[in-house]
Amino acid sequence: MQMSQQNKRFLELDMYSILMQSPVAMCIFRGNQYIIDFANDFYLQILGKKHDIVGKPLFESFPELENQGIKKNFEQVMESGQILHVNEHEAFLMNDGLLKQHYFNCIYQPLKSADDVTIGIMVVFTQVTDLVLAKKKNIENQKTLKIELNIAHIELAFQKVEKGKRAAELGIANIELAFQDDEKGKRAAELGIANIELAFQDDEKEKRAEELIIANKELAFQGDEKEKRAEELIIANKELVFQNKEKGKRAEELIIANKELVFQNKEKEKRAEELIIANKELLFQMGEKEKRAAELVIADIELAFQNNEKEKREIANRELQAAKTQAENATKIAEDAVKAKQQFLSNMSHEIRTPMNAIIGFTKVVLKTELSAKQKEYMTAIKMSGDALIVLINDILDLAKVDAGKMTFERTPFKLALSLSAMLHLFETKIQEKNLKLVKEYDSRIPEVLIGDPVRLHQIILNLVSNAVKFTSEGTINVRVVLLHEDDEQVTIEFAVTDTGIGISEDKMTKIFDNFQQASSNTARLFGGTGLGLAIVKQLVESQGGTITVKSTIDKGSTFSFTLSFQKTNAKAESDTETMELSPDISNIKVLVVEDMPLNQLLMKTVLDDFGFDRDIANNGRIAIEKLTQKDAYGAIKVYDIILMDLQMPEMNGFEATEYIRNTLKSKIPIIALTADVTTVDVAKCKAVGMNDYIAKPIDERVLYNKIVSLVKKNVVVHTNKASKIEKQPKLRCTNLNYLMQRTKSNPILMQEMIMAYLEQTPILISQMKQSFQDEDWHLLHTAVHKMIPSFLIMGINTDFENMAKKLMEYTQTPKQTATMLGFITQIENVCLQACEELKDELKTLKGARK
Ligand code: ADP
Repeated sequence: MQMSQQNKRFLELDMYSILMQSPVAMCIFRGNQYIIDFANDFYLQILGKKHDIVGKPLFESFPELENQGIKKNFEQVMESGQILHVNEHEAFLMNDGLLKQHYFNCIYQPLKSADDVTIGIMVVFTQVTDLVLAKKKNIENQKTLKIELNIAHIELAFQKVEKGKRAAELGIANIELAFQDDEKGKRAAELGIANIELAFQDDEKEKRAEELIIANKELAFQGDEKEKRAEELIIANKELVFQNKEKGKRAEELIIANKELVFQNKEKEKRAEELIIANKELLFQMGEKEKRAAELVIADIELAFQNNEKEKREIANRELQAAKTQAENATKIAEDAVKAKQQFLSNMSHEIRTPMNAIIGFTKVVLKTELSAKQKEYMTAIKMSGDALIVLINDILDLAKVDAGKMTFERTPFKLALSLSAMLHLFETKIQEKNLKLVKEYDSRIPEVLIGDPVRLHQIILNLVSNAVKFTSEGTINVRVVLLHEDDEQVTIEFAVTDTGIGISEDKMTKIFDNFQQASSNTARLFGGTGLGLAIVKQLVESQGGTITVKSTIDKGSTFSFTLSFQKTNAKAESDTETMELSPDISNIKVLVVEDMPLNQLLMKTVLDDFGFDRDIANNGRIAIEKLTQKDAYGAIKVYDIILMDLQMPEMNGFEATEYIRNTLKSKIPIIALTADVTTVDVAKCKAVGMNDYIAKPIDERVLYNKIVSLVKKNVVVHTNKASKIEKQPKLRCTNLNYLMQRTKSNPILMQEMIMAYLEQTPILISQMKQSFQDEDWHLLHTAVHKMIPSFLIMGINTDFENMAKKLMEYTQTPKQTATMLGFITQIENVCLQACEELKDELKTLKGARK
């Protein structure tokens, strides 16, 4: 065999070196772990790992290849023992810490043992990455091209459509043009015809002109002839005109003559009519004259009669005067007697009440101590008798007041339902003791808060229910409260108390409402009582514009029902009757008791000690003021939380002391008046001098406790608010705008005007009132007070002040009681000044609300 030198050298290369230098990547794997037995340079170059891979499993050296389909290919070849071609296999290889994309064309060749078992794989592959990427890019480009082509096609199609449109438009334009050409031709033809016509007409014109000349000549000849005729006619006309004028003159003369004749005829007629009227007048006057004469006769007779009567009257008059004087004297005597009686009753009641106060108070105190059963029984009897006596005294006082027309009614907002429950509560024990049942029916339509006199209502219902309980031994007491009528301003309510007791006989039914009347003579023996209760109830109901009726059947039972009207309101009730708990922030209450009677002082001490309050006693107003201003060893003023102030005391009474505390000490400490006689004048006075509340003796401990706690609580609130708010008197409000709101239908502008008018006139009237009193100008005082009167009602100021003003006016007629007058003037001034302050605030609120 011949061989070149080169060939020879080539043949000297061993198989390994050849394979190592192969331009395709090549490697051999063994076993199921695909351990690399051989990998050539190209392989290592592509996979980027040059050392230490031989003898190691493939996926240990190239873990990134494990999940890229290569392992699946290996498994397929190992299992099938078949050669596998895979083109353009995409694989990511780790290169300098980054994965790089490659494409390979691979051949997997199974390597078999002698017994035909696949024991390894030889993989040969070439890198086709650039080729594949170029191809992909080409496809990408083709896609873009296709899209652009499509767009170009669409564009073309659109342009074609547009072209079509233009062509159609052009067609139409051409047709139009052709039509216009046609028209033009027609117009040209018509123009030709018109020209020919014109030429013809010109011809005709010339002919007519010639004819005209001939006609003119003829006319000129005829004109000459006409002139001649005309001259002849003018002469004939002149003759005619002259003859006409002559005729006209004759006619005018005739018309004037006719008019004259007509006028003369009319005048003649008028004269005749006037004559007729004059005749009638004459007749009428004659008739009247006769009548007057007749009347004169009658008047004379009348005059004579009246003169007669006059004489008679004069006699009667004189007689009447005498009788009147007599009657007046009698009335005065009777009135004085009544007044004396009332005064006596009032004084007596008052005098009795003061010691009774102590008796009942101390009985209560003793009852709280350890007592034997017998002692307790006796003390209870004393207390019950005392209570009964107080009721009687109160009744007498009430009746005296009603008789004297002194009974006035408060108008305060209160909660009816609550008030009613509280008063029925008082009967619970009694009703249980007697084994009776109490049923309450309450109409839910009744507004929660009403304006009226809750104390008097209490008194009425208390009387009726206590009678019902007293005269019933078995069965039910029913208390029914029903809304009868309601309008914008008020409600009318019916109260009915029904019992299943002894009943009242027909003939006694009307009498039981009289003073000291009982249904039978043994009532007092069997049931007690005085026969005053119903009399007072009737007075209380009727004085408030209500009515009371009774229906009763002997042995079946009775129903007492009454109706009362109450004003509606948006205001809140002044005080609730619920018991108040003593809150921790107002424990340790320090009370200053101003009271001159040692017995009452002692009583107060025991009561306040029971409450656990700290207390100090002053014998009169002056001492109280000393105590309020006294400094201790360290220069500190003792601070009290509240004052209980008796009214009648020597040296300085309760009113004077309160005035001093409010006006000179400028203190707002709550003050409760202690009064034995809750007559309205006293109550009004208390309010006027700036007391916060009052309480009647004998004192109901529960009421006293509630009043003290609620006032101290309020004052604490006022004081804590002080830092942020302007000082505010813890005074009771004296004005109430309900009436004004109703009158003005809550029109804020009208309300403002009314309030402004009040604020303008009141200070002037007050100074007029004071000045005229000083000057003893009673007429001016009367006028000033008179002007104030309507404003009390309008501004909702307690009617007591209006009554006071009216009394003051009365006193100006016989100005003797100057001390009382001064008292009234001061109280009216105080309340009006307070009203002004309150109304100024209201005005601000109203103005604020309007903004
Ligand atoms: P008092 O109850 O103090 O006697 P009142 O004026 O309250 O006085 O009553 C007058 C009288 O009317 C009573 O004494 C009694 O005879 C009669 N009366 C009042 N209420 C009832 C009643 N519910 N049932 C029966 N009788 C009554």
